[in-house]
This record gives sequence, structure tokens and C-alpha cells, in this order.
Amino acid sequence: MRRQNGKGAKDIQADSEAPAYSRTAVKPSYGPPGKASESRLKRWEESLRKTEEKLDSRKRKLDDLENAAKDARTDLNKRQKDVAKQGRELARAQKQLEKQQLAIAEKESAVAKQEQETQDLALALSTSRAEQLIAQLEEHFFCSLCFEIIACPCTIGSSRCGHTFCALCIMKWYFSRLCPDCCTWHEDLECPLCRTPIAAPKVVPADGNTPCPFAPNRMVDGAVAELLNTIRNESTASSGSSSTSPKGKGKGKSKKTEGGVISEAIALWGEGGASRVDWQDRNRRGHAELDRLTTGWTRMGPGDYKLMKNRLAAT
Ligand SMILES: [Zn+2]
Ligand SMILES: [Zn+2]
Ligand SMILES: [Zn+2]
Repeated sequence: MRRQNGKGAKDIQADSEAPAYSRTAVKPSYGPPGKASESRLKRWEESLRKTEEKLDSRKRKLDDLENAAKDARTDLNKRQKDVAKQGRELARAQKQLEKQQLAIAEKESAVAKQEQETQDLALALSTSRAEQLIAQLEEHFFCSLCFEIIACPCTIGSSRCGHTFCALCIMKWYFSRLCPDCCTWHEDLECPLCRTPIAAPKVVPADGNTPCPFAPNRMVDGAVAELLNTIRNESTASSGSSSTSPKGKGKGKSKKTEGGVISEAIALWGEGGASRVDWQDRNRRGHAELDRLTTGWTRMGPGDYKLMKNRLAAT
């Protein structure tokens, strides 16, 4: 590479081939360098400077805008993150809620199960209590004349033996010994259970001195009534309804009802049960006959005895 006076080859060539008019006096159209040209240059420079200033100002504004945009993006990102975080927290809370709801449902079903078990137990307890009471009733309060539960309990004679029968049963038995022809008792009687002697009334004439041989046993009456009430209450509790009233008698068998399996004995002695209804009827009639006999005894004569005998025989 050649260099000459600090100028490159191209510069030298341009100099040597420079047109002649540059050396002549011909005025160039743009005029020679002078005052006008300088002021124009100044104006340009001024204009350039202003333009540069404007550009700078715009650049600053642009920078500001970019910064603002950046801030906005950062803010947006942060908010999006916050929303995502809140969403995750919400999802967690929902999950927890579902878990709690599940736990509550489980607890509720456990409580329901317990309640059912308690109910079943109470039912079983009522059933067994009712059955025990019926067994007691049948063991201690049965009439040895009719082999049923004593209705309108009644003793006979001077109550030396204290044996108690249904009023209807013992009255029927007593008047069955009356001679239908002469309407008297030919012989003294005995307790049908233990043979304790019972004095027969002297009937002719009725003198009012022979006491009525029949006396209601109010202790037994109260005990039987109370037992029957308790049995009704327990059987109602054990069956869940009081509408069971099977026909016929007997025990030991079981019957399926809405409340579960209950024994036939409970059904018979529950409200409306066949045995209970039968007992109530015998009890009512027994009290009526016993009242009639005890209040009218001193005024009764042979004719009344015969009427009594016939009426009782028909029952
Ligand atoms: Zn009886
Ligand atoms: Zn006779
Ligand atoms: Zn007796």
C-alpha cells in the first residue's frame, strides 16, 4: 500500500483529474464559502442540535414509557402470582372443607348407627321385661279353677287359707254345691285348693248373722292391675305399635311385626291382645257379680240363691 503526504491513491487521482473550472473564475451556483454559507451552516447545526435534543427528549420519554411498561409487567406478574397463590390456597381450603364434610358425614352415620343400636337394645330390654312380667303374672296370679290369670280376685270363707280365685270362678263353684230342690247347702264346703273347711250359710230363714263368704282380695287385685299396666307399656315400647292382637292363645312362639320379633305372649297381653281383652271382660263381670252378692247377701233367700246359681252356671 502506497501512501503520499498522508493521502490515499484515490485522493491523488481525484486531485489530478479535478475539473478545470474549479480553478477558473466561474462562480459556482452554490457560491463560494462566505458569510451566508456560514450562517446557513449555523442554522443547520442549530436545527440539528434541536433535532438531537428532541430526539433525546423522545428517547427519554420512550425510556420512561419502557420503564413504566416494565413496572406494569412486573406488577402484573406479581398480581398473577398472587392470584395463582390465592387459587392454590382456595383449592387447599376446598379440599379441607370436603375432608371436614366427609368427616361430619361419617360422624353422623356413626351417631345414627348408635341411635339404632340403642333403640334395638331398648326394644330388646322392653321385650325381655314384658316377657318376665308375663311369666310373673302366670306364675303367681293364676286361678286354679279356670287356669287363667285371676280376674277380680276373691277369697272364700274366713280367709284362713287365703287362697284367691276369680270371683266368677269361686262363686260359680260355691253355688254349684247348692241343692237345686231345696235351695240349701247340705254339707259344709272346703277350699277347692287346700280343703280348708268353709262353713255353709244357714239359709232358712236368712237371718243376717251368717257373714258373706266372699271377700274381694284388693291386694291381689291391685298387683295384677299394676302388672298388666306395666306389661302393656313395655309391650307397646317393644313392638313400636299397639295394634297387635293375634287370635288364639299360647306362648313361646314369635311373631314378626314392624317393630321386630316379639313373642306371642307379649302380643296376647299387649293393648288389645286377646288374653288382655278376655281378662278385662272377666274382671268387669266378676266385679259386678261380687258387688251384687256382697251388698245383697243379708237380704238374700233360697229363691235368690237359685237365681244366682242359674245365672252363674250360664256364664
Ligand atoms: Zn278363674
Ligand atoms: Zn236339697
Ligand atoms: Zn285354700
